[in-house]
Amino acid sequence: MLGLMQNHQLLISSLIEHAERHHSEGEIVSRRVEGDIHRYTYKQVAARSRQVANALDALKLNFSDRVATLAWNGYRHLELYFGVSGSGRVLHTLNPRLHPDQVVWIANHAEDSVLCFDATFLPIVKAIHSRCTTIQHYVMLCDAAALPADTGIPGLQSYEAWIGAHPSTYNWPQFDENSASSMCYTSGTTGNPKAALYSHRSTMLHALAGAMPDVLNISARDSILPVVPMFHVNAWGLPYSAAMNGAKMVFPGPAMDGKSIYELIESEKVTFAAGVPTVWQMMLGHIQTGGLRFSTLNRTVIGGSACPPAMIAAFNDVYGVEVLHAWGMTEMSPLGTVCTLKNQHLELSSEDKMKVRLKQGRAVYGVDMKIVDPDGDELPWDGKISGDLLVRGPWIIEQYFKQEGASPLVSGGWFPTGDVGTIDGNGYLQITDRSKDVIKSGGEWISSIDVENIAMAHPAVLMAACIGMKHPKWDERPIIAVVKKPGAEVSRDELLAFFVGKTAKFQIPDDVVFVDAIPLGATGKMQKMKLREVLKDYSLPGV
Ligand code: ADP
Repeated sequence: MLGLMQNHQLLISSLIEHAERHHSEGEIVSRRVEGDIHRYTYKQVAARSRQVANALDALKLNFSDRVATLAWNGYRHLELYFGVSGSGRVLHTLNPRLHPDQVVWIANHAEDSVLCFDATFLPIVKAIHSRCTTIQHYVMLCDAAALPADTGIPGLQSYEAWIGAHPSTYNWPQFDENSASSMCYTSGTTGNPKAALYSHRSTMLHALAGAMPDVLNISARDSILPVVPMFHVNAWGLPYSAAMNGAKMVFPGPAMDGKSIYELIESEKVTFAAGVPTVWQMMLGHIQTGGLRFSTLNRTVIGGSACPPAMIAAFNDVYGVEVLHAWGMTEMSPLGTVCTLKNQHLELSSEDKMKVRLKQGRAVYGVDMKIVDPDGDELPWDGKISGDLLVRGPWIIEQYFKQEGASPLVSGGWFPTGDVGTIDGNGYLQITDRSKDVIKSGGEWISSIDVENIAMAHPAVLMAACIGMKHPKWDERPIIAVVKKPGAEVSRDELLAFFVGKTAKFQIPDDVVFVDAIPLGATGKMQKMKLREVLKDYSLPGV
């Protein structure tokens, strides 16, 4: 017997409709690329999102066509979140920090039809448009008057002129909630970047779960500052959870230095902020130097990399700001676990509480997790034994976009995260290691394979292995161990110079270490664990 309740589809358009009806005066404040502060309300977000939808219809875009963005966190980007997905197209947030060649590869792979970009990224778009084979429409996120002439970009329009030509009335289409809503590429695994393709249903369930009290605890009384970029896993779902609850949103635009972020927190009475440890490191540096305090900030979610104990202590003990240490990944929309304390932890000494806070936390409802040994057998939750972490649930990937070959899932429909950790008796996960072959620097991925391939292209290099080294500011930085060809010569600086222009600047290794050999396993695979042992006394230059 089926239940007799209405079968309403969970669609992203319903979020902005709800926000407009119930929180029409809820504020959206953005620091713009132009440097000034822009403010308006959900009522206007909703009206302008409908203009976006009409503008996309006028371009004769089909259902599920991809609309790409190269943009900072800001109100126009938010309108695209709702207008693109709400009208049945797929929002593809490109990462502007990547090398232009990587952006071209990703845009072509996604078969983007439209590209909307901030003025900051005009030079990138000028450099790549002729190689983007599927993009037919270019829109710069600016006023008509700010649109530069003679860019060489075919048909370039300003966003304001583009949407301004269309009405703000629109009937959001109703369709299957399993339809794709947005996509995000990650190099979190080996090989070429891969895209997670989110659905309306997965996004809505993730937004609901993310707002729960023991997750991010989002309410209409919050003023939320996502420093985590909107091109990074949909700013961890915050734009959706905020609209669902009518929370005020504060967008930092391109200004992510400690001073700008602190000023925005104070001036906009931010209660909740989200970002990777590197961002908070910069902000804590700023407030510590200036002897400043927070007057409204009461919690911050920190994830993307392990949060250092000193940061948790500074926020919690010195500034009275609760740290929600969270773990997740692009393939998980991204929320997996969040560290909020249980009753039994409240009585603990501050030292013991810190031990709990350092963990990545317990699973959000909807995320099923387990740790397994190399044979795939489940390991106990004793907080000591570590194993490969597997997850499954309604906002966890089933397949990558245009996936060739086997599904990433293993038996039982589990997704192998590439992370290694322990789970304690209370269900708190602690990430102890990473089995996937990538390095994370300041919240952004560096593919060790890409770095190795560039090094190997140098005529003097016989073999190269890239590994991540702990770094106090960036969490990890890559170095490359190199075996020279017999009789060949190349210096450290020559080899580092060889990377310039071939990859994004942050992806260039910090150092080159020349070695006689790189340890190889039985199948000829480089054994990076062994290489780490060889380099155990090494420290990064300047650290
Ligand atoms: P995001 O940075 O938004 O979490 P990514 O897909 O870019 O998403 O990165 C996910 C990976 O980052 C995880 O698989 C894990 O290796 C690492 N990671 C994320 N959060 C944490 C954390 N709190 N502690 C340690 N590693 C983390």
